[in-house]
Amino acid sequence: MMNREYDVIVVGAGPAGSMAAKTVAEGKHSVLVLDKKQEIGTPKRCAEGINARVLASLDIKPDPRWAINNIRGAVCYSPSGNSVNTDLGAMGGYVLERKIFEKHLATQAIKKGARYMVKTNARKVLKENGFVKGVKADYMGEELELKSRIVIAADGVDSKIARDVGIDTKNVLEDYHSGFQYEMAGLKLEEEDKLHIYFGEKIAPKGYVWIFPKGDSVANVGIGILGKLSSDGNRAIDYLDRFIGSHPEIFQNASPIEINAGGVPMGSPLEDMVDNGFMVVGDAAHHVNPIHGGGISLAMEAGMIAGQVASEALDRGDVSKKSLQEYQRRWEDKFDTKLKKLI
Ligand SMILES: Cc1cc2nc3c(=O)[nH]c(=O)nc-3n(C[C@H](O)[C@H](O)[C@H](O)COP(=O)(O)OP(=O)(O)OC[C@H]3O[C@@H](n4cnc5c(N)ncnc54)[C@H](O)[C@@H]3O)c2cc1C
Repeated sequence: MMNREYDVIVVGAGPAGSMAAKTVAEGKHSVLVLDKKQEIGTPKRCAEGINARVLASLDIKPDPRWAINNIRGAVCYSPSGNSVNTDLGAMGGYVLERKIFEKHLATQAIKKGARYMVKTNARKVLKENGFVKGVKADYMGEELELKSRIVIAADGVDSKIARDVGIDTKNVLEDYHSGFQYEMAGLKLEEEDKLHIYFGEKIAPKGYVWIFPKGDSVANVGIGILGKLSSDGNRAIDYLDRFIGSHPEIFQNASPIEINAGGVPMGSPLEDMVDNGFMVVGDAAHHVNPIHGGGISLAMEAGMIAGQVASEALDRGDVSKKSLQEYQRRWEDKFDTKLKKLI
């Protein structure tokens, strides 16, 4: 039977949640991570691109088991077919095998002392005297009351747990990009060590089409467009299918091996990321780069900062909103101006 009282409970074992858990465990505090999926990292909702510099800054050493394709740069195509080809050398970045990457992050947290439960859906927060004190969760048909001094909501773009605390994590339609993607095999690509990005209102209104190669003729082929239906009523999948059909030189012999769909919160970060005994990180807090929609690295950075501040607050014996606001301060110092400049 699991110990049912922890210093910290993290809801969500994505990049934000596992990074938060690892940091809390490093601070010598007990931490339990819950994920409603039965397998961490699966299904993926991601094109799996990550910058090498971010991994280095978080002290995560690329491992060929999950950093499967070294990316040297990007080729950007205009609607007329002209292209700009950049070369950053071997230190550009990686296309990940995210299903393995997320398990790797969880493994690192567990090795530091974090506990994990999968197939465990956090339904509500527990509250006492104005403080969040844990969560109610379902595990294999059983309802559990899991207590903690701090809850960290790392439950992604569809985050519900923060709303229970009165923090509105919903995205307005104007700020919500809908993503649709095939992982495909059998592509004929000129440069498999580059990301390929296609722009144009007819190709992807207010967004872009991407081909992120994974090597051996396999790539994530996807599109992100404004969540609202376009004026001609087409959905993301319609634009993507049209794009694939219009590039037989790449896709003639290709077939999908996976379908992925999901939303990207492109609006500004939450105004309020904390409450008494409560913190919100990653996609749940809209920590996404509003230009390209990438959020893995910002989620990990937010998780790390939240984990550090949670540990310090526990050491001081003060988990009030005022004390936890230090997380928001540090996050904003590092990213807010930079991200707002992009909007
Ligand atoms: C199509 C698409 C392509 C993308 N491509 C890229 C890319 O190439 N590079 C990049 O950097 N970013 C990309 N992103 C964005 C990136 O995937 C997210 O920014 C990132 O996953 C955010 O991490 P997170 O830990 O905050 O949330 P998530 O990774 O979404 O993790 C949240 C976790 O919480 C769990 N959860 C949710 N609710 C509950 C609950 N009630 N109880 C228990 N568990 C719960 C979920 O099961 C999930 O495991 C893409 C997004 C989409 C949709």
